[in-house]
Amino acid sequence: MHHYTYGPHCAVLPEARALHAALPLVAGDDAIALQWLYSRHHSVPDVPFRAPHHTVSAWGLCGSPSHPGEVSLALGGVLLLDQVEEFGRATLERLGHALRSGRSGIWPARPAIVVTTSLPCPCGRPDRCRCTVGMITRHNARVARNREMVQC
Ligand SMILES: [Zn+2]
Repeated sequence: MHHYTYGPHCAVLPEARALHAALPLVAGDDAIALQWLYSRHHSVPDVPFRAPHHTVSAWGLCGSPSHPGEVSLALGGVLLLDQVEEFGRATLERLGHALRSGRSGIWPARPAIVVTTSLPCPCGRPDRCRCTVGMITRHNARVARNREMVQC
């Protein structure tokens, strides 16, 4: 699955929900994989929706040999990266690699990716914004870089 949506937080969040609702139920081998991925959880979702906080570690996002990460728990569903500019660079580098290969270690890594940003500026409050041109330039560069890292 290589669905990719990108846009400002307020516009894309409803889109992520709509995409999730429109996705087909995970079936076949992926449904069996979900049983395995969620074996430590109370229930297995029909269509996963995962929205890890931007403070998530690389292990949390991409997993370890003993634990699947968010990218794997989102198999066949949606992985929402809300405010992508806030995620760590090393974390997104690992995620990008997993998305391009479709695997993260032993775990599958094939979610639909939804990326939001807090454009147009770092404070996210256009009505009361006091960000400098330099802050906005750096912010936009970080958005562009982080966004590119997870585009596949
Ligand atoms: Zn601002």
